[in-house]
Amino acid sequence: MDDPSASLHLVSNRFAADAVGASSMRDGERCFRQPSAPVRLHRERQDTSSAGWLRMLELIDEAAADGREVFRPLVELTPAERADLVTLPPTIARLTRVKHFVLYGSLVVRIPPEIGSMASLEVFEPYTSYSLHWFPYELTRCASLRDSTVSTRALYGNFKFRPAFPRLQPEGALASLPDPDDLDPGVWGVESIPSCSVCDGPIAPARFSQRWISIRVATDVLPLLVNACSDSCIQALRTPPEDHVATPHQGGREIQQPEPRW
Ligand SMILES: [Zn+2]
Ligand SMILES: [Zn+2]
Repeated sequence: MDDPSASLHLVSNRFAADAVGASSMRDGERCFRQPSAPVRLHRERQDTSSAGWLRMLELIDEAAADGREVFRPLVELTPAERADLVTLPPTIARLTRVKHFVLYGSLVVRIPPEIGSMASLEVFEPYTSYSLHWFPYELTRCASLRDSTVSTRALYGNFKFRPAFPRLQPEGALASLPDPDDLDPGVWGVESIPSCSVCDGPIAPARFSQRWISIRVATDVLPLLVNACSDSCIQALRTPPEDHVATPHQGGREIQQPEPRW
């Protein structure tokens, strides 16, 4: 979706009940303020002892237990608790009955791959989550997903501004780390990599590599981060639609993107 200021009517009607405050930008969010500045991955780590994280775990437990189809957790959180959330707990994998997941105005900077286990997900609304610049490839596993409302201007490679994709690490780099289960999200995008984004198989650090790929997911073409166990899983990726980088890539300024389109 487009700039909310251009669609206030829609916002006020559709999202009033879910509005969680005027600002949905992290303090210091400046990833797209200066077009020529290098684009980086967010390096915030999740504090799993914070009140917001613990409350979110409870809300997920409740929703998993009662089998509800609509999950809008942020309205249950205080502004301070919402700001605690850098990402979402991996326990969202248990929300297999949820069809409609509302994250309107969240401050998260990444969505965990476990969203791919939300097997009933039909509508995903992270709208106005302006610090969310990419999604996990695992989102493509949500076979019923048909409607997404994403603030596309906040996305890497979006068609209006074509911001660069952050450069990913060279192949084999994971093998040189002392602890591949404790990653710097400013370097890897994530704090850990549970399994291959494509085949769900285990990761062997020596063969591991990452790619960006732009693919249509529900309503929008989204930039997806692929954590791949092998070359064959990268070869298995779909071809991106026209008007986006034509192949999976590793980011960086040298990646040629189509011209911005207004
Ligand atoms: Zn940002
Ligand atoms: Zn794989």
